[in-house]
Amino acid sequence: MTEHTELAADVQKAVAALGLPPDWELRVEIRPRRNAVGLELKPGEPVKVLVPPGATPERVADFIRHHRGWLARKIPEARQLAPDFAVKEFVDGEGFVLLDRSYRLHLTDDGPPARIEGRPHVLSPALFLCVRRDRPDTMRNAVINLYRDRGLTWAKLRGEQYERRGGIQGLHYEVRDLGRRRWGAYSPTKHLVSLHWPLFGLPRELIEYVLAHELAHATRPPGRQHGEAWQRQMSLWMPDWRQRKTALAHVGRRAWMGNYRS
Ligand SMILES: [Zn+2]
Repeated sequence: MTEHTELAADVQKAVAALGLPPDWELRVEIRPRRNAVGLELKPGEPVKVLVPPGATPERVADFIRHHRGWLARKIPEARQLAPDFAVKEFVDGEGFVLLDRSYRLHLTDDGPPARIEGRPHVLSPALFLCVRRDRPDTMRNAVINLYRDRGLTWAKLRGEQYERRGGIQGLHYEVRDLGRRRWGAYSPTKHLVSLHWPLFGLPRELIEYVLAHELAHATRPPGRQHGEAWQRQMSLWMPDWRQRKTALAHVGRRAWMGNYRS
């Protein structure tokens, strides 16, 4: 055993002796660059106890005892926000949402890989997401490309009003996969707003929030990234942005992130 795994084992033992609720799942991690003991709580993940190499098991145990009330409050909150991402099966009739419109999936044997059409039921007012029958991952990628195309067109058009009001010039947009933690990003060096494609399956006011959020960064407000100046810009554009941010944390965890069952 290395020095660190030995310390981790000793700390884990000291934590176990505290008699905390067994479902709290505290995981000890030695962090060589830290100076102080800390706790890390992320939705859907076990609680991490971050331990600097110089700490003693007693000190860590003390720290946790001290934060017991905080953990008792925060753990259920984090659990509620744990992702529960939608899983698609790519069967006829399955529902998809894109830019606030609901579509039924219709598998076809010809035509482009994925497109939106009024057919095949001429009398039905519903719109169909027509996808050429193929392997699930191929069908998924075709649908994702459709989300990216439609999303990009929407974002560029919708972004214009913020560009105008915020005095933003020469801004670029892209819609792509940004992983599991971000809905959007702004790169100052490229002057580029990136949006996560699953965003376009969420309610319009949440898409709009992420767009405004990144465009507020693109106005290059002084100070910290999400500091006072940035917040002022957001409040000017979208007085209820804080509510939308909270709603995004809740609704976003059930988003379709491209998962499918084959
Ligand atoms: Zn931001």
